[in-house]
Amino acid sequence: MSQPSPPRSDPAAPAAPVAPLSQYVLKLTSRCDLACDHCYVYEHPDQSWRHQPRVMTSATVEAAARRIGEHAAAHGLGTVRVVLHGGEPLLAGAARLDRTAATLRRVIGPVARLDLRMQSNGLLLTPAVCDVLVAHDVKVGISLDGDRAANDRHRRHVDGASSHAQVLRALALLRRPAYRGVYAGILCTVDLANDPIRVYEALLAEQPPRVDFLLPHHNWDRPPVRPDGAATPYADWLLAIHRRWLEDGRPVPVRVLESLLATAAGGVSGTEAVGLGPADLVVIETDGSFEQVDSLKSAYHGAAATGLDVFRHRVDDAAAHPGIAVRQSGLTGLCDTCRACPVVEGCGGGLYTHRYRSGSGFDNPSVYCADLAALVRETAPAPAPAAEAPSGPADALSPVVLDDLGAGQGTGESVGHLASIHLGVTRALVVALSPEAAGDPLAAAGWDLLVDLDVAAPDAVHTVLSHPFVRRWAQQCRAEAADHLPHLACVAAAAAVHARADAELAVPARAGLVHLPTLGVLALDTDADTATLSVSRGEVEARAGGRSVRIRPDEPENPDGWRPVRRVRPGGRDILLEDTDPYRDCFGLPPTGRLAPEAAERWAAQVRRAVRRVDTEAEDYSAGVRTLLRAVVPLRPDPTGRSRSAAARSAFGAVAVTPAADDAALAVLLVHEVQHLKLGAVLDVCDLFDPADPRMLRVPWRDDPRPVEGALHGVYAHLAVADVWRRRPGRAALVTYRRYRDWTTGAIDALLDLGALTEAGERFVRRMRATVDGWP
Ligand code: SF4
Ligand code: SF4
Repeated sequence: MSQPSPPRSDPAAPAAPVAPLSQYVLKLTSRCDLACDHCYVYEHPDQSWRHQPRVMTSATVEAAARRIGEHAAAHGLGTVRVVLHGGEPLLAGAARLDRTAATLRRVIGPVARLDLRMQSNGLLLTPAVCDVLVAHDVKVGISLDGDRAANDRHRRHVDGASSHAQVLRALALLRRPAYRGVYAGILCTVDLANDPIRVYEALLAEQPPRVDFLLPHHNWDRPPVRPDGAATPYADWLLAIHRRWLEDGRPVPVRVLESLLATAAGGVSGTEAVGLGPADLVVIETDGSFEQVDSLKSAYHGAAATGLDVFRHRVDDAAAHPGIAVRQSGLTGLCDTCRACPVVEGCGGGLYTHRYRSGSGFDNPSVYCADLAALVRETAPAPAPAAEAPSGPADALSPVVLDDLGAGQGTGESVGHLASIHLGVTRALVVALSPEAAGDPLAAAGWDLLVDLDVAAPDAVHTVLSHPFVRRWAQQCRAEAADHLPHLACVAAAAAVHARADAELAVPARAGLVHLPTLGVLALDTDADTATLSVSRGEVEARAGGRSVRIRPDEPENPDGWRPVRRVRPGGRDILLEDTDPYRDCFGLPPTGRLAPEAAERWAAQVRRAVRRVDTEAEDYSAGVRTLLRAVVPLRPDPTGRSRSAAARSAFGAVAVTPAADDAALAVLLVHEVQHLKLGAVLDVCDLFDPADPRMLRVPWRDDPRPVEGALHGVYAHLAVADVWRRRPGRAALVTYRRYRDWTTGAIDALLDLGALTEAGERFVRRMRATVDGWP
């Protein structure tokens, strides 16, 4: 397996300005007196604990304290939190604990308020230890997973014996009036096998001042169990507690639930597990090395390492480490999918650790994505999303990409970024359907299959989710869920075919037709409204109404009713000649029905030649066409004989065209419509204008006033059309070029004069202007 980001920094390089770190996990010990089988320190891939000293020496504590104090002073930090951790920190013994706390208070205390804490399994908590905790004001959190049965599921001794009674004894000690002041709360790891209400009641019985729930540490390489194929079992588990907690009048703060409520109200999360707040935390191992967050040990061996330590490096050096800095960068540190997600403000992409996948590293949504989306929605319902697409947070494009696209063309990297945004938007739309999908048997089975394939064959899922009409379908579901949700089974079945996976599921058959997005349609000649598909090694057997048909989706049209989507191969990626997808009628112009073979061949040949013509004639636009154009939808000829073409933001990647006069005309239409796709994707994540501004403006190519968005689209497309004609020889081409150029400059001036553009919008339009000004 290839090992991924985060990249390492060069410890010798000069430190760049960094965001300060105010939280430190100090590994007082590296061993434990329990052998919990869900422990990320000992039972997960990173086994670096084996090379750590068993206990942190006094010299290391002193060095760590000095580094923390030095950093707090340099950055003017008012408060610093240090959490004594392990392994099990109480294995250090009361005397060492006493010395450690005293050192930390002596060195850091004069510089900043020290919030000193400890996380422990509680087994070695004694009155003597509690006296030390009280003496140095060390607040202690205890790990407990519920009642005895729940706790015994994982938290056992090496011989398998229960630790439950010992933990309860520790909690009873902390409830004594003398020690109550250092009782911080209980940390509970979620296990679906435990009844959530029994767990909740067992924890409350210990009268904790605070409770937190932790999702077990999994990632895309080691996904969490989902018993019985449930779509969002972890959300369901926590939501059961959430309901009871609200009914009880919130008798105790529950950190993850309060954080969800806080972020929904525009506030700050109290946990790295949800929300976009910076995670300003670093771990100091028993040997003094700086490490990234501890739970990364569940990703791969060495995942948390930085190559830095308290003896040779400042905390500033650790803060500048890419793996630590990225967790402080909020939205910009997330993958494209999360940045485009409608619930990203509440979810924040989940815990960094849970995003890991071999190959792509941490540049993924959380493996608990569906659960987190459900949790955010259920605990803090967001305002109704826009009908067109979930609008991502504004300005998620870097200025470099925005400038590059604003110039009109866009490099392969920039347009590739737009393709990623589209995939992110579609994923987010599909994820948002999951709760409703649970109520529809076909959709529920489709969702479960899709979740499995997303782990086992992510490229196959990406192929299908990138299809223009999957996004269109997902948006239709928001308006009329009952009619459209079952199509989720078709989406999943198509992904299973691409993955060459084995799957069996029921899919809707509308008027006897079973649609497989990206693949084609199967006409089953049946009145049944569902069909059963068995998918195996890329082949499909369909059964409905007593009829059974076996097809290979990559074979040509056949008498059994299989009508594959034809593919155009201009070199590089396939472009689909889409005349089968039921969601393709979204352009305001009527699509053709299924093309006869000869007509399809004519269309395919012309699309192929037109794309190649763009390559040679207007190569600056070639990256956009080749990267973004995934489907051409043949339209019926216009009754007036005019060439017509269209693109739709809801069907990103598709261009619809009437038969074109020749290859040159089709090349211009493709460039024109791909400009609309590019701008639509920019608008998905970047506010170029204030959508609430009702003002209209006059543009040179129309008599009626246009809204700002319409004018922007027009000018962006006309700029490209002018640029293509500019390169063509002959007087007629020159005349056409000048007309489009003048339209472009006229509309740019009108847009800039109106004053309705945002800062990013003005920057984008001025880049267009610079391109036009550079033409002869
Ligand atoms: S008590 Fe904590 S450190 Fe010890 S084995 Fe259990 S989870 Fe790991
Ligand atoms: S895509 Fe998933 S993980 Fe990312 S922010 Fe949205 S719900 Fe969270």
